Amino acid sequence: MGDCANARMILERPQRGHMFIEIGCQMKKIKLFKGDITSLKVDAIVNAANTSLLGGGGVDGAIHRAAGKELLAECRTLNGCKTGDAKITKGYNLSAKFVIHTVGPVWNGGKSGEPEKLASCYHRSLEVAVENSAKTIAFPNISTGVYGYPKQEAAVIATQTVTSFLENNPEIEQVIFCVFDNENFEYYRELLQNN
Ligand code: ADP
Repeated sequence: MGDCANARMILERPQRGHMFIEIGCQMKKIKLFKGDITSLKVDAIVNAANTSLLGGGGVDGAIHRAAGKELLAECRTLNGCKTGDAKITKGYNLSAKFVIHTVGPVWNGGKSGEPEKLASCYHRSLEVAVENSAKTIAFPNISTGVYGYPKQEAAVIATQTVTSFLENNPEIEQVIFCVFDNENFEYYRELLQNN
């Protein structure tokens, strides 16, 4: 990661209460955003869904509310999704063209394959994005809400998995890590600046 030794940050405030941080890593392809993922104009936002894909609380609930009922109707046709896998739908009323639904692991102490499953969520979501020609993609902090994954460990996996995917897949133009709380914001800022 020597390329990123001179990482620099540019602060922007596109909307009140929201903050973009651009990190000079990966040809400036990675951004950090604090705020509501449903507000982002990107090709695809990622949903931290559950295996039913039929909606839930947290970011899942926010995405379904913002996208409208047609999203649930399409999700019903998908026959669920396995933990660590990802499936795509249209974005309906969202600014994003697509929603990529992935299912993070429930934290169970860390010895039940949680790190591999969480890495797979990021990797599979990016593979699905490439398959659908989505070039800009925003991720929430998968599994770090109700599913209880320790935030710092999850942030390490998220940033490492995305960084290595970008090294091998130049067709992805931008990845936004969308954080919703200060704790995640600080972990991501630290990791992205120091990578
Ligand atoms: P999980 O079940 O995978 O833990 P949650 O939705 O409970 O999913 O939480 C995942 C992360 O999404 C948490 O860090 C939570 O703070 C965050 N989050 C909740 N609502 C939003 C939103 N509207 N936009 C972005 N992130 C959100």
